[in-house]
Amino acid sequence: MPHFTYARNFLRLKQNQRTLAPRLAIYYITTYCNLNCTYCEDFGARRNANAVTSTLEDSKKILQIIRDGVDNLWITGGEPLLAPHLLDLLNYAKQDLRFRELSLISNGTLLSQNLGLLRVVDRLILSLDSVDTSALASLSGALHPKEDATQSSLKQSQNLINTIEEIAPLQKKDNFKLILNAVITPETLPDMDNLIDFCAKNKIWLSFSPQAVNNWIHFDLATSPTYSQFIKNLLKRKKKGAPILGSNIYLKTLLDQKPYECYPTIIPRIMPDGWLIYPCLPMEKAGGEIGGRPVNLLNVKSWAEAWRIANERYGEAPSSCTSCFQQCYAEPSLMQAHPLAWMWESLRTGIDLGTYAPG
Ligand code: SF4
Ligand code: SF4
Repeated sequence: MPHFTYARNFLRLKQNQRTLAPRLAIYYITTYCNLNCTYCEDFGARRNANAVTSTLEDSKKILQIIRDGVDNLWITGGEPLLAPHLLDLLNYAKQDLRFRELSLISNGTLLSQNLGLLRVVDRLILSLDSVDTSALASLSGALHPKEDATQSSLKQSQNLINTIEEIAPLQKKDNFKLILNAVITPETLPDMDNLIDFCAKNKIWLSFSPQAVNNWIHFDLATSPTYSQFIKNLLKRKKKGAPILGSNIYLKTLLDQKPYECYPTIIPRIMPDGWLIYPCLPMEKAGGEIGGRPVNLLNVKSWAEAWRIANERYGEAPSSCTSCFQQCYAEPSLMQAHPLAWMWESLRTGIDLGTYAPG
């Protein structure tokens, strides 16, 4: 139960323990991607030569171990729709493993040929950084490198917007929630208000993360009065009912840009071939003795065993850290650390904030 995990973690924090129980897990079904977003620090087509994927059989075994310790699952990539076994795995996660909430995060470019998955997932989170197709095209890279890159990217951006408009009305019938996630960049910032209007018109939730450079907010945003004003406006628009998926406390953190207490084990990440990243992706990338891939879920019998190996290898989660401001890192930790804010927002919005943080 999510609230049970929240309460258990609350008690652990009171006892000065920092390795908290997961509220959800992220499984990267593939690290291949068909886009080349300029801000992408982890994957993207330019890194496809080193990309990994898995078989349906192995992916099922990995999910079995995850389910042993986790209630909610996000499947993402790379671009998850490039994995041929995606739909089978989603069905398996939902029907056989009965994850409480199943979310899929995608760039949406291949969605129009895969609408069957709308009936399987609980939440579909699509990346859409702008409704200005020129800004979008300049960020995402061409799908068809042999075509004229600009024309191809513009067409692809318009197709994505069209697809979103087509599937938004299906949410009730197919029983899923559609969420857009926007990366705020110096290029997308000027058109962000139009994106909020687009979401309000189409009854879609919208979440935000600032562009990260080595996990810190992009310098041009961090020092920009326009960015600060935009976040202030977000708080105002949210109060007036705009469909903004982000807690007040997270949005205020984006404004203040102050480090917060991060508990990265609340959302563990697992690579396509089963390697658990511990305690978090930024620390793994930093290398050395602070983090890495201590255990493969294909080689253990339970989630507890995997966690014990990880803990023995790298110790407790860090006690202090230069914070990451992407929503998926910050939001769950902030809500865990501020129970009253969590309860108030949960009551007011009816949203389980434990699964609040797509970006
Ligand atoms: S779609 Fe996602 S994984 Fe692919 S390049 Fe863009 S940000 Fe990276
Ligand atoms: S702030 Fe970033 S690097 Fe630090 S523990 Fe959290 S996710 Fe890891």
